Amino acid sequence: VVQQEWSRVDEYLVSALVEQDEVLTGALERARAAGLPPIDVAPNQGALLHLWVRALGARRVLELGTLGGYSTIWMGRALPAGGSLVTCEVSAEHAAVARENLAVAGLSEVVDVRVGPAVETLEGLVGGEPFDFVFIDADKENNPSYFRLAVGLTRPGGVIVVDNVVRGGAIADEGSVNPQVVATREMNRLIAAEPRVVATAVQTVGSKGYDGFAFLLVTG
Ligand code: SAM
Repeated sequence: VVQQEWSRVDEYLVSALVEQDEVLTGALERARAAGLPPIDVAPNQGALLHLWVRALGARRVLELGTLGGYSTIWMGRALPAGGSLVTCEVSAEHAAVARENLAVAGLSEVVDVRVGPAVETLEGLVGGEPFDFVFIDADKENNPSYFRLAVGLTRPGGVIVVDNVVRGGAIADEGSVNPQVVATREMNRLIAAEPRVVATAVQTVGSKGYDGFAFLLVTG
């Protein structure tokens, strides 16, 4: 009943405020037709990513976890002319669907889909031009490594957002043995101990259930 209510309100909010065109709905349709799991961000969450990228004036965006490219399109569309986005995906199958969706969106020249374990891709980016905005949404077990690498890849004043940091409330279970929860709690310890980062996290409910995101400002 509670989930029904969250979904009903999300439907209203999306219909009232969020313009989803055929490119975005088509990207979700192609992902489902190809058998990709329905774990893309919700439309109003995609719009939030878009607005963060725009509000920051970000020119370089890094994404971990491409899936079918739905969140990628939302962020890619927020970039100014000359902007670029690197997105990391371990599954060649997911990356192929994403590339097709990005081509339909006219973003093939803007978005670089890197296939492989995100840790390796990120290590290869060290020493390059820093990023203004990073969205971490891949395998949660690697969140500590993703955070550590992302901090080094983000310019001072840049922002890192980490998705799924609440996990239906399980994040608060000290004794949890769920590897995703254990890793995300470890990431939180690293964040708290990192002097170059100021952070918060917020719980969310909606069509995708009960979860939340962390928002990190890189200060130095
Ligand atoms: N950001 C996408 C969106 O909102 O449309 C959803 C991403 S989905 C939650 C997570 C993705 O991370 C999956 O496509 C999965 O294959 C990918 N993934 C899992 N482990 C990975 C790894 N080690 N490196 C890179 N990507 C990985």
